[in-house]
Amino acid sequence: MVDGYTIVLINLLYLVNLYIQGGIQIMNNKKLPVAMSNRHLHLSENDIAVLFGEGHQLTNFKDLSQPGQFASNEKVDLIGPKGTIKGVRVLGPARNQTQIEISLTDSFILGVKPPVRDSGDLASSPGVKIVGPKGEVELTEGVIIASRHIHMHTDDAATFQVADKDRVQIKTSGERGVIFDNVLVRVHPTYALEMHVDTDEGNAAGLKNGDMVELIRQ
Ligand SMILES: [Zn+2]
Repeated sequence: MVDGYTIVLINLLYLVNLYIQGGIQIMNNKKLPVAMSNRHLHLSENDIAVLFGEGHQLTNFKDLSQPGQFASNEKVDLIGPKGTIKGVRVLGPARNQTQIEISLTDSFILGVKPPVRDSGDLASSPGVKIVGPKGEVELTEGVIIASRHIHMHTDDAATFQVADKDRVQIKTSGERGVIFDNVLVRVHPTYALEMHVDTDEGNAAGLKNGDMVELIRQ
């Protein structure tokens, strides 16, 4: 015999169960936005002076998502042994060492063989000639294919339960959805939560800037 109270109780338990399941699903469903980085370069103060003239300061074209970083109005041409890529944008502010970040496709156009590296790790990477409006720089090293990575604020790292320098997997959705392996996590109190892939990676997965992707494993 099932009385009215029992039916109410069963329904109540069912709703509590749904609520708990939903909570677990939200906890497991850790999403973040993605952005595609087109080919770009960071320049040292010295190389800015050679390429754009003594005392030249990079001018802000657009702020980037990471605080303090900006796309400048300044552009240069890259000349490799096989070909040239014109109008490559300089990102600011200036850095200690000039670093050029291109895609694998770009490397075939230029005819250089850059390694896949984390930003700043430039040892024994190839160089290329940089041509600006006021001069040229024959770079001896500094061309890399940037490792896919996630910028995370310290609070985000706690939410996602990851630490700086961890490598995680990221799942994208949609018709050409993929799982990206070896995604570097970079944690800093000034970072804004965002995954960065290059144009080869983003286009292969059919991604658009701002698409949400899912951290599935650490
Ligand atoms: Zn980045």
